[in-house]
Amino acid sequence: MYPSIEKLQKYVRLEAKNGYDNKAVIGGLASMLESWEAEARNDELSEEIVQAVTGRLRDYEGLSADGRKVTLFGIGNRLKREYPELGDEKPVPTRPKPFDQAQEKPTPAPEAKPVPEQEIAENGDQAQTPAPVDTKTAPQQEGVGKQTPSHKPARPRSESVPGAVTSETPIALNAVLTVLQGVGPRNATTLEKLGLFTLRDMLYNFPHRYDDYSQLKPIKSLWYGEQVTVIGNIKSVTGRPLRGGRSHITEVLLNDGTGSLRLTWFNQPWLTNRFKQGVSISVSGKIDQYLGRLQMSSPDWELVETENLHTNRIVPIYSLTKKITQKWLRQQMNQVVSYWAPQITDHLPDSVRLAAHLPRLNTALENVHFPKTQAHLKLARERLAFDEIFFLQMGVLRQKQDWQSVMGRIFDISEEWLKARKDDLPFTLTDSQEKAVSDIVMDFGSGRPMNRLLQGDVGSGKTVVAGLAIAMVSNAGAQAAMMAPTSILAEQHYRSLSKILTTNENGLAESEIRLLVGDTPEARKQEIREGLLNGSIKVVVGTHALIQGPIEFANLQLAIVDEQHRFGVDQRAALREKGENLHLMVMTATPIPRSLALTVHGDLDISVMDELPAGRLPIETHVLRPQERERAYTMIRSQVLDGKQAFIIYPLVEESEKIEARAAVKEHEALQADVFRKLNVGLLHGRMKPAEKEKVMAKFRAKEYDILVATTVVEVGVDVPNATVMLIEGADRFGLAQLHQLRGRVGRGMDKSYCLLIPTDNDDIENERLLAMAESNDGFVLAEKDLEQRGPGEFLGKRQSGYGTGLRMASLTDIDLIEKARERAQAIFSQDANLEKEEHQLLSEALDHFWGETSKGDLS
Ligand code: ADP
Ligand code: MG
Repeated sequence: MYPSIEKLQKYVRLEAKNGYDNKAVIGGLASMLESWEAEARNDELSEEIVQAVTGRLRDYEGLSADGRKVTLFGIGNRLKREYPELGDEKPVPTRPKPFDQAQEKPTPAPEAKPVPEQEIAENGDQAQTPAPVDTKTAPQQEGVGKQTPSHKPARPRSESVPGAVTSETPIALNAVLTVLQGVGPRNATTLEKLGLFTLRDMLYNFPHRYDDYSQLKPIKSLWYGEQVTVIGNIKSVTGRPLRGGRSHITEVLLNDGTGSLRLTWFNQPWLTNRFKQGVSISVSGKIDQYLGRLQMSSPDWELVETENLHTNRIVPIYSLTKKITQKWLRQQMNQVVSYWAPQITDHLPDSVRLAAHLPRLNTALENVHFPKTQAHLKLARERLAFDEIFFLQMGVLRQKQDWQSVMGRIFDISEEWLKARKDDLPFTLTDSQEKAVSDIVMDFGSGRPMNRLLQGDVGSGKTVVAGLAIAMVSNAGAQAAMMAPTSILAEQHYRSLSKILTTNENGLAESEIRLLVGDTPEARKQEIREGLLNGSIKVVVGTHALIQGPIEFANLQLAIVDEQHRFGVDQRAALREKGENLHLMVMTATPIPRSLALTVHGDLDISVMDELPAGRLPIETHVLRPQERERAYTMIRSQVLDGKQAFIIYPLVEESEKIEARAAVKEHEALQADVFRKLNVGLLHGRMKPAEKEKVMAKFRAKEYDILVATTVVEVGVDVPNATVMLIEGADRFGLAQLHQLRGRVGRGMDKSYCLLIPTDNDDIENERLLAMAESNDGFVLAEKDLEQRGPGEFLGKRQSGYGTGLRMASLTDIDLIEKARERAQAIFSQDANLEKEEHQLLSEALDHFWGETSKGDLS
């Protein structure tokens, strides 16, 4: 009997049993073809049979269930004809086969869902030459009892320790790299530049890409342009100078019995002596053409006796730094991976792993570095990505549980009172705003602290919702605080909240609402501090100043953070600390795609405001060439003539406020003196004092300025409904989210508004982001695009600390994986929220490691 045929028959049976859903092999039947083909050759099956099987299965995935059935029967018949001794195979077994014990041990956990029978491709036959480890510096601890879960690595704590760490993780993984053969102190220092300090770092130093050399081909069937590996025998070697001795060429003629291939290397004269006639080498590279004949220039090569690490397989490509070569690093990686990956105990309980159809951690680690096939690689990456998202999900679930386990003060909001407050407003709330308000009322009545994200696109009217929430609390005599990222915005909120909160006779007095920014004079700050401590001040609006310095509240019950993504986790936590179990609402205009929201904000309740107030016209966006600037100016003039106002934004020239400010100052002068000399042009930039900024804003609001030349200081929150033109210079330099925010400064009233984008160069007119802006006004659509283009780290903003860094493998755009991880996390959480069961022990430790000791999943 031939093992390769046996295996094939097993797959065919499984497929028949599963209704031909192509799930008998993870990644689909076609994904095992490469390894199967090798086995078939090993069994010396005839070439026709091998071709018949691989040829038919290659497109298996694209077939209908019927088509698949026919294909498999066809293969079965073909096999029977060729090997009549095989006997009849019954296509469908009467009883489900027990899970293949040799492959996988089913978990005894009774609550584990039955797992569809599957072949989990594992690749355990990686060469396992033990890496020689200096046992003096790195005692290997096999079977060592429980240790503290967080091992201190040999480097600053600021960088996180990659991968999962549990008490069963070999402590020797913390060893420094000099324990590796061939790595001395000098190489170790070089590797540190890549962030590689310990063996663990090496193990989790994933390749950034792979070259697939796994397609070995006979020379006669090579094609121009192909990337291949060829094995052959050296027929001749010549080395000679070129171009009057200024360069040198080494030529090798390689023959594999089917044909000859010319190989060339330039300016490596020493190679001439390295190649010996009659010796076999394998070469990998791209097929070129020279004078009508196929050749390879400067291919990677190896003697075929040596382990084919660099050729004849899917080759991992690692990030490099000066002084080390890919080949050398790969060798070190192989040393580490082949010895250490098998020693890693899986922290994921089998119940979770099998339900999610994932390979074991050690298999995944081996295959992510040295995959045998693309299918192995895919699974390995999926497993590693799964872990990250799963940890994220477990963290947010835990966080939510913590929140819900404490009491929050109840505020009973009478309907009449609320209606009266709404009637005081100069407009009717949108349905979205109504819904958000009633969510808040519900939270206040729940007896648990509110922990809500109010998410609404720019201009959707979040401020008034915040204002009503504050009124509910202050009406009951308690205190509320609202924090905004800039003093301009704090000031603006202070003004609009003052209006909302003081309009009726039972409302607050002016003196009960205060503004606190960094620039507030010390004497006034002192007075505000006193008022907050003795309770005479009910509402405070401010910037970071609210959490800097010794501010205490008599009875803070509600904290609101506007533009929350502008704040770090610590800053939001600091505000939350100002009261006991207070109600927290964070607001953002960053529309978060569903996949991200589920992952990042799983611990928050979310109110989405997905409509703009009635009567708003969509903003018309145009991308203009730099030489069409005059058209933009004309548009601004005509709008100003109409009594409207405009913003002109100058870009971040560099990451320097100073330079940015200078550019804006210069442009302002030029515009005022020349282009708009009959109009009033104001200037606003980040280097101005808050008081000056506010003066400029006040003048702009009062229409004393027709045009405001500004830097990105106006990016968030600024609300001047009379402004109808937003001209953005150097628009290509802004991110999509930022452009959308800037555009959101107009279109806030009833008038038609315009956004004009002028890129730095003519060539940038095709800039993808600019085109996306012209196409859509919808923050959600743009956010999805942004996420696609830039990934979550950028998207969430650098200040979203603790985020993105934990993700080495996972992409938050992979919704299927996210849902899978979320499902599994919820399943575990509902059985054993605190991970106290024996079988969840390692998971619990790994989770603690992932989140560090302090921030238990507080991402919000
Ligand atoms: P954002 O959600 O971007 O923070 P704001 O709260 O600043 O939006 O509101 C934008 C503008 O819309 C403000 O001028 C505000 O007064 C106005 N506004 C808010 N709600 C409504 C509404 N329901 N009808 C009309 N205008 C509204
Ligand atoms: Mg706002």
